[in-house]
Amino acid sequence: MLICATCAVEYDEPTPDVCPICADERQWVPSDGQHWTTLDEMTAAGQQLTFTDNEPGLTGIATDPKVGIGQTAQLLSTPEGSLLWDPTGYVDDEAVRRVLDQGPVLAIAASHPHMFGVQVEWSHRLGDVPVLVAEADREWLGRNDSVVEFWSGSRQITEGVTVHQVGGHFVGSGVVHWTAGADGRGVLLTGDSVFPNPDHRSVGFLRSYPNKIPLSGAVVQRIADQLEPLAYDRIYGNFNNTIDTDAKAALRMSADRHAAWVRGDFDHLT
Ligand SMILES: [Zn+2]
Ligand SMILES: [Zn+2]
Repeated sequence: MLICATCAVEYDEPTPDVCPICADERQWVPSDGQHWTTLDEMTAAGQQLTFTDNEPGLTGIATDPKVGIGQTAQLLSTPEGSLLWDPTGYVDDEAVRRVLDQGPVLAIAASHPHMFGVQVEWSHRLGDVPVLVAEADREWLGRNDSVVEFWSGSRQITEGVTVHQVGGHFVGSGVVHWTAGADGRGVLLTGDSVFPNPDHRSVGFLRSYPNKIPLSGAVVQRIADQLEPLAYDRIYGNFNNTIDTDAKAALRMSADRHAAWVRGDFDHLT
Protein backbone atom coordinates (compact mmCIF):
# COMPACT_ATOMS: atom_id res chain seq x y z
CA MET A 1 0.00 0.00 0.00
CA LEU A 2 1.25 3.48 -0.90
CA ILE A 3 -0.22 6.84 0.06
CA CYS A 4 -0.51 9.82 -2.29
CA ALA A 5 1.56 12.59 -0.69
CA THR A 6 -0.80 15.28 -2.01
CA CYS A 7 -4.25 13.96 -0.99
CA ALA A 8 -3.15 11.25 1.50
CA VAL A 9 -5.42 8.62 -0.04
CA GLU A 10 -4.16 5.01 0.10
CA TYR A 11 -3.64 2.87 -3.04
CA ASP A 12 -2.97 -0.78 -3.79
CA GLU A 13 0.37 -1.50 -5.43
CA PRO A 14 1.31 -1.20 -8.17
CA THR A 15 -0.13 2.30 -8.03
CA PRO A 16 -1.24 4.27 -11.07
CA ASP A 17 1.45 6.65 -12.44
CA VAL A 18 -0.52 9.60 -11.09
CA CYS A 19 -3.16 9.58 -8.35
CA PRO A 20 -6.50 9.73 -10.23
CA ILE A 21 -8.11 11.74 -7.41
CA CYS A 22 -5.43 14.43 -7.71
CA ALA A 23 -5.37 14.35 -11.53
CA ASP A 24 -9.14 15.02 -11.62
CA GLU A 25 -10.28 18.60 -12.33
CA ARG A 26 -11.38 19.00 -8.70
CA GLN A 27 -7.84 18.54 -7.31
CA TRP A 28 -4.26 19.14 -8.43
CA VAL A 29 -0.95 17.37 -8.98
CA PRO A 30 2.14 19.24 -7.69
CA SER A 31 4.20 21.03 -10.34
CA ASP A 32 7.13 18.70 -9.61
CA GLY A 33 4.95 15.64 -10.17
CA GLN A 34 3.42 12.77 -8.25
CA HIS A 35 4.87 11.71 -4.90
CA TRP A 36 3.99 8.59 -2.94
CA THR A 37 4.71 7.96 0.73
CA THR A 38 4.19 5.28 3.38
CA LEU A 39 3.01 5.20 6.97
CA ASP A 40 6.52 4.14 8.06
CA GLU A 41 8.05 7.12 6.29
CA MET A 42 5.59 9.48 7.98
CA THR A 43 6.17 7.87 11.40
CA ALA A 44 9.95 8.23 10.96
CA ALA A 45 9.45 11.92 10.15
CA GLY A 46 7.67 12.43 13.49
CA GLN A 47 4.05 12.47 12.31
CA GLN A 48 1.49 13.01 15.09
CA LEU A 49 -2.29 12.95 15.45
CA THR A 50 -4.10 15.43 17.69
CA PHE A 51 -7.41 14.83 19.45
CA THR A 52 -9.86 17.67 20.21
CA ASP A 53 -13.13 17.34 22.14
CA ASN A 54 -15.70 19.21 20.05
CA GLU A 55 -18.73 18.40 22.18
CA PRO A 56 -19.85 15.38 24.23
CA GLY A 57 -19.69 12.39 21.87
CA LEU A 58 -17.68 14.11 19.16
CA THR A 59 -13.87 14.19 18.93
CA GLY A 60 -11.89 15.80 16.11
CA ILE A 61 -8.78 13.90 14.98
CA ALA A 62 -6.26 15.88 12.93
CA THR A 63 -2.75 15.35 11.59
CA ASP A 64 0.18 17.43 12.86
CA PRO A 65 1.92 18.38 10.66
CA LYS A 66 -0.89 18.34 8.10
CA VAL A 67 -1.02 15.17 5.97
CA GLY A 68 -2.43 15.46 2.44
CA ILE A 69 -5.50 17.68 2.26
CA GLY A 70 -5.34 17.89 6.05
CA GLN A 71 -8.89 17.10 7.01
CA THR A 72 -10.06 16.71 10.57
CA ALA A 73 -11.65 13.32 11.07
CA GLN A 74 -14.63 13.15 13.43
CA LEU A 75 -15.12 10.32 15.89
CA LEU A 76 -18.83 10.25 16.69
CA SER A 77 -19.42 8.08 19.74
CA THR A 78 -22.74 6.69 20.91
CA PRO A 79 -23.57 4.13 23.64
CA GLU A 80 -23.74 1.48 20.88
CA GLY A 81 -20.39 2.36 19.29
CA SER A 82 -18.65 4.90 17.10
CA LEU A 83 -18.52 6.16 13.54
CA LEU A 84 -15.14 7.36 12.23
CA TRP A 85 -15.93 10.02 9.62
CA ASP A 86 -13.51 11.42 7.02
CA PRO A 87 -10.59 9.33 8.32
CA THR A 88 -7.13 10.91 8.26
CA GLY A 89 -4.37 9.84 5.88
CA TYR A 90 -2.28 8.64 8.82
CA VAL A 91 -2.90 6.21 11.67
CA ASP A 92 -0.74 4.86 14.49
CA ASP A 93 -1.15 2.52 17.47
CA GLU A 94 -1.74 5.39 19.90
CA ALA A 95 -4.60 6.72 17.76
CA VAL A 96 -6.19 3.28 17.54
CA ARG A 97 -6.01 2.94 21.33
CA ARG A 98 -7.62 6.36 21.85
CA VAL A 99 -10.39 5.64 19.33
CA LEU A 100 -11.19 2.28 20.94
CA ASP A 101 -11.25 3.96 24.38
CA GLN A 102 -14.55 5.48 23.20
CA GLY A 103 -16.01 2.03 22.47
CA PRO A 104 -16.14 -0.28 19.45
CA VAL A 105 -16.13 1.29 16.00
CA LEU A 106 -19.27 0.40 14.05
CA ALA A 107 -18.15 1.82 10.69
CA ILE A 108 -15.73 4.11 8.89
CA ALA A 109 -17.08 6.40 6.18
CA ALA A 110 -15.77 9.32 4.14
CA SER A 111 -17.93 12.17 2.93
CA HIS A 112 -16.36 11.78 -0.55
CA PRO A 113 -13.20 10.38 -2.23
CA HIS A 114 -10.95 13.35 -1.28
CA MET A 115 -11.50 12.23 2.32
CA PHE A 116 -10.85 8.47 1.91
CA GLY A 117 -7.50 8.87 3.72
CA VAL A 118 -6.14 5.51 4.86
CA GLN A 119 -9.64 4.20 5.56
CA VAL A 120 -8.85 0.51 4.94
CA GLU A 121 -5.73 0.77 7.11
CA TRP A 122 -7.82 2.30 9.91
CA SER A 123 -10.33 -0.54 9.49
CA HIS A 124 -7.72 -3.31 9.72
CA ARG A 125 -6.26 -1.80 12.88
CA LEU A 126 -9.71 -1.30 14.45
CA GLY A 127 -10.70 -4.94 13.92
CA ASP A 128 -11.75 -5.04 10.24
CA VAL A 129 -14.76 -2.79 10.75
CA PRO A 130 -16.86 -1.94 7.64
CA VAL A 131 -15.64 0.88 5.39
CA LEU A 132 -18.69 2.43 3.74
CA VAL A 133 -18.09 3.76 0.21
CA ALA A 134 -20.81 5.41 -1.87
CA GLU A 135 -21.71 3.18 -4.81
CA ALA A 136 -21.71 6.23 -7.10
CA ASP A 137 -18.05 6.94 -6.25
CA ARG A 138 -16.64 3.40 -6.39
CA GLU A 139 -14.51 4.25 -9.46
CA TRP A 140 -12.36 6.45 -7.14
CA LEU A 141 -11.55 3.65 -4.71
CA GLY A 142 -7.80 3.01 -4.98
CA ARG A 143 -7.48 0.37 -2.27
CA ASN A 144 -9.89 -2.50 -2.54
CA ASP A 145 -10.55 -4.78 0.39
CA SER A 146 -13.16 -7.15 1.76
CA VAL A 147 -14.00 -4.61 4.51
CA VAL A 148 -15.45 -2.19 1.91
CA GLU A 149 -19.26 -2.07 1.70
CA PHE A 150 -20.97 0.00 -1.00
CA TRP A 151 -24.05 2.02 -0.10
CA SER A 152 -26.38 4.57 -1.67
CA GLY A 153 -29.33 6.71 -0.59
CA SER A 154 -29.33 6.64 3.20
CA ARG A 155 -27.62 4.28 5.61
CA GLN A 156 -28.25 4.12 9.34
CA ILE A 157 -25.06 3.46 11.32
CA THR A 158 -26.88 3.15 14.64
CA GLU A 159 -29.90 4.71 16.36
CA GLY A 160 -29.73 8.48 15.70
CA VAL A 161 -26.74 8.36 13.34
CA THR A 162 -27.47 8.18 9.59
CA VAL A 163 -25.40 8.92 6.49
CA HIS A 164 -27.33 10.60 3.67
CA GLN A 165 -26.10 10.84 0.07
CA VAL A 166 -26.59 14.44 -1.09
CA GLY A 167 -24.33 14.58 -4.16
CA GLY A 168 -23.05 17.88 -5.49
CA HIS A 169 -19.28 17.91 -4.96
CA PHE A 170 -19.18 14.20 -5.96
CA VAL A 171 -22.21 12.16 -7.05
CA GLY A 172 -21.81 10.05 -3.93
CA SER A 173 -21.04 12.92 -1.49
CA GLY A 174 -22.63 12.28 1.89
CA VAL A 175 -23.39 13.99 5.19
CA VAL A 176 -23.98 12.49 8.63
CA HIS A 177 -27.10 13.40 10.58
CA TRP A 178 -26.64 12.94 14.35
CA THR A 179 -29.88 13.56 16.21
CA ALA A 180 -28.36 13.72 19.73
CA GLY A 181 -25.68 16.26 18.77
CA ALA A 182 -25.73 19.91 19.92
CA ASP A 183 -27.58 18.99 23.14
CA GLY A 184 -30.28 17.18 21.17
CA ARG A 185 -30.88 19.96 18.60
CA GLY A 186 -29.08 17.87 15.99
CA VAL A 187 -25.79 18.02 14.10
CA LEU A 188 -24.68 17.54 10.50
CA LEU A 189 -21.15 16.38 9.73
CA THR A 190 -20.43 17.51 6.20
CA GLY A 191 -17.57 17.22 3.75
CA ASP A 192 -17.17 19.44 0.72
CA SER A 193 -20.83 19.08 -0.36
CA VAL A 194 -21.70 21.68 2.30
CA PHE A 195 -18.69 23.71 3.41
CA PRO A 196 -18.98 25.98 6.50
CA ASN A 197 -17.35 29.30 5.60
CA PRO A 198 -14.91 31.33 7.73
CA ASP A 199 -17.72 33.76 8.68
CA HIS A 200 -19.42 30.93 10.68
CA ARG A 201 -22.76 32.15 9.25
CA SER A 202 -22.84 30.68 5.75
CA VAL A 203 -21.80 27.62 3.77
CA GLY A 204 -20.35 27.09 0.30
CA PHE A 205 -21.29 24.51 -2.33
CA LEU A 206 -18.66 23.86 -5.00
CA ARG A 207 -17.57 21.12 -7.37
CA SER A 208 -13.96 22.11 -6.67
CA TYR A 209 -12.63 24.25 -3.82
CA PRO A 210 -8.95 24.48 -4.91
CA ASN A 211 -9.88 25.10 -8.56
CA LYS A 212 -13.09 27.09 -7.86
CA ILE A 213 -15.57 25.17 -10.05
CA PRO A 214 -19.21 26.07 -9.27
CA LEU A 215 -22.36 23.98 -9.02
CA SER A 216 -25.65 25.08 -10.58
CA GLY A 217 -28.34 26.82 -8.56
CA ALA A 218 -30.64 23.84 -9.13
CA VAL A 219 -28.20 21.39 -7.55
CA VAL A 220 -27.58 23.65 -4.57
CA GLN A 221 -31.33 24.07 -3.99
CA ARG A 222 -31.75 20.29 -4.32
CA ILE A 223 -29.21 19.74 -1.52
CA ALA A 224 -30.92 22.33 0.71
CA ASP A 225 -34.34 20.77 0.01
CA GLN A 226 -33.06 17.28 0.83
CA LEU A 227 -31.65 18.42 4.18
CA GLU A 228 -34.69 20.55 5.10
CA PRO A 229 -36.68 17.75 6.85
CA LEU A 230 -33.73 16.86 9.12
CA ALA A 231 -33.58 18.44 12.58
CA TYR A 232 -30.19 20.08 13.05
CA ASP A 233 -28.79 23.27 14.53
CA ARG A 234 -25.03 22.84 14.05
CA ILE A 235 -22.69 21.82 11.22
CA TYR A 236 -19.12 20.55 11.50
CA GLY A 237 -17.14 20.69 8.25
CA ASN A 238 -14.18 18.51 7.40
CA PHE A 239 -11.62 21.05 8.66
CA ASN A 240 -13.38 21.54 12.01
CA ASN A 241 -14.99 24.61 10.43
CA THR A 242 -18.39 25.04 12.04
CA ILE A 243 -21.73 26.77 11.99
CA ASP A 244 -22.34 26.68 15.73
CA THR A 245 -26.05 27.45 15.78
CA ASP A 246 -28.99 28.19 13.42
CA ALA A 247 -27.21 26.09 10.82
CA LYS A 248 -30.36 25.12 8.92
CA ALA A 249 -31.25 28.77 8.30
CA ALA A 250 -27.63 29.49 7.34
CA LEU A 251 -27.68 26.65 4.82
CA ARG A 252 -30.97 27.80 3.27
CA MET A 253 -29.78 31.43 3.07
CA SER A 254 -26.51 30.27 1.48
CA ALA A 255 -28.33 28.10 -1.08
CA ASP A 256 -30.68 30.96 -2.01
CA ARG A 257 -27.73 33.36 -2.31
CA HIS A 258 -25.75 30.90 -4.45
CA ALA A 259 -28.73 30.36 -6.77
CA ALA A 260 -29.31 34.11 -7.07
CA TRP A 261 -25.69 34.81 -7.98
CA VAL A 262 -25.44 32.09 -10.64
CA ARG A 263 -28.83 33.22 -12.03
CA GLY A 264 -27.44 36.73 -12.51
CA ASP A 265 -29.55 38.56 -9.91
CA PHE A 266 -26.46 40.43 -8.69
CA ASP A 267 -24.72 41.12 -11.98
CA HIS A 268 -25.17 44.86 -11.34
CA LEU A 269 -22.67 44.49 -8.49
CA THR A 270 -19.92 43.14 -10.72
ZN1 LIG B 1 -3.83 12.10 -4.57
ZN1 LIG C 1 -13.41 17.50 -1.81
